[in-house]
Amino acid sequence: MIKRYDLVIRGGLIVTGSKIQKADVGIKGEKIVAVKPDLLEKEASRAINASGKYVMPGVIDVHVHPVYENDMGGLSLTAAHGGTTTLIHFAYAKPGMKLIDTIKSYQEEGLRKSYLDFGIHGTLFDPASQIEEIPKAFDLGISSFKMFMTYAKLKWMTDDYHLTAAMDLIAECGGLTMVHAENGLVTDYLEDRSLRRGEDQKKVFLKTRPDLLEAEAIFRALTIAAITRCPLYIVHLSTAKGIFPVQQAKGEGQIVYVETCPQYLTMTDAKLQKLGPLAKIGPPLRTEKDRLALWKAIQKGIIDVVASDHAPKAKKIEDPFFEAPYGSPQSETMLTVTYDEGVNKKKIKPSKLVQLFSENPAKIFGLYPKKGVIQKGSDADLVIFDPKYAHTIRHENQHSGAPYTLYEGRRCVGKPVFTIQRGKILVEDGELMGKTGGAKFLSTKITKGR
Ligand SMILES: [Zn+2]
Repeated sequence: MIKRYDLVIRGGLIVTGSKIQKADVGIKGEKIVAVKPDLLEKEASRAINASGKYVMPGVIDVHVHPVYENDMGGLSLTAAHGGTTTLIHFAYAKPGMKLIDTIKSYQEEGLRKSYLDFGIHGTLFDPASQIEEIPKAFDLGISSFKMFMTYAKLKWMTDDYHLTAAMDLIAECGGLTMVHAENGLVTDYLEDRSLRRGEDQKKVFLKTRPDLLEAEAIFRALTIAAITRCPLYIVHLSTAKGIFPVQQAKGEGQIVYVETCPQYLTMTDAKLQKLGPLAKIGPPLRTEKDRLALWKAIQKGIIDVVASDHAPKAKKIEDPFFEAPYGSPQSETMLTVTYDEGVNKKKIKPSKLVQLFSENPAKIFGLYPKKGVIQKGSDADLVIFDPKYAHTIRHENQHSGAPYTLYEGRRCVGKPVFTIQRGKILVEDGELMGKTGGAKFLSTKITKGR
């Protein structure tokens, strides 16, 4: 007998960005077909009892780097274990590489290896020779482009001339510019001066990358974006000082979105002093004052998105600090630590969490309401989250390619117990049930712009 539903999720608390309601979710094929009370178990091929649990839209992680210890397959695997159902990857067009060829190879890899639906941001390491390819990227479903205002020594930095040229063209094409906002030349000078003085680079890590240089770069990016009328997205905001220019620009009606990451919401420089190279990330872990200011900015609606900046590297605690690369694994722990720090400590409500992790990223990148909400007609991308599940984070239980987690030994209450993508159960109570090869590439679309 053909059942009305392939899957029903019964008795849970449905959380969306606007409300929490007790209801059942009926799924047929890849879609949500009913959200209402009292769906009948006998009308479904399978029923999941979600009483006492939150049923939330799957996490949409728009800041991931599938080029280090996780490729697009491995990254989607660790992400799925953390409650994520959609990823938007940075496709690295390094100096000497072509933007379009790079995007195509990521699309191909994702379709072959990913467990999760995915989109792509073009990432320009050498805009001077890559800008001209931007319009063609839109034909491939790419509408967001990242540039670095820092990492001058690595030769990844975009100068203001090319940042302006890129934003001008991106705005004309109807896209969005994303920036890593830190003043790369000033941080390089401060680092060189400190090296000449023979200072311990771990101890002065924060001093050589001061908060003012994030605020300055944000203000500069906002200025160029305003002049070119280009929508702007600030990745990984980390400082209290950086909040002010954003708040002002938003107040004036400028189209700007702001992201922070779980690491800046849960950790400070104290972690770096303890774990050295493992906690070396850019921008750096900041002060307690910064951390609390970021939570305030979330409460006030200044920060729109929380994303992982997952960049797992094969680092060991005894590695020399200065030579160690930037980055840490974050994807799998993101939802549980942010929930624990935010909801359990009464800084935010579950609906706010859903805004930050699902609804806002879906809206910014044009995936809404296909993704980012639980309603009839949307993709059945869901995470069932047990708010009472007490657990201790251990690297040995994680699936990232990094040999460590920065959250080792951290107690958390609340954990994703089911990850469901387009009606298929991917992860059930820590066990992988899904397989690769069924992921879809998602075209992004920026709806607000010039
Ligand atoms: Zn990043």
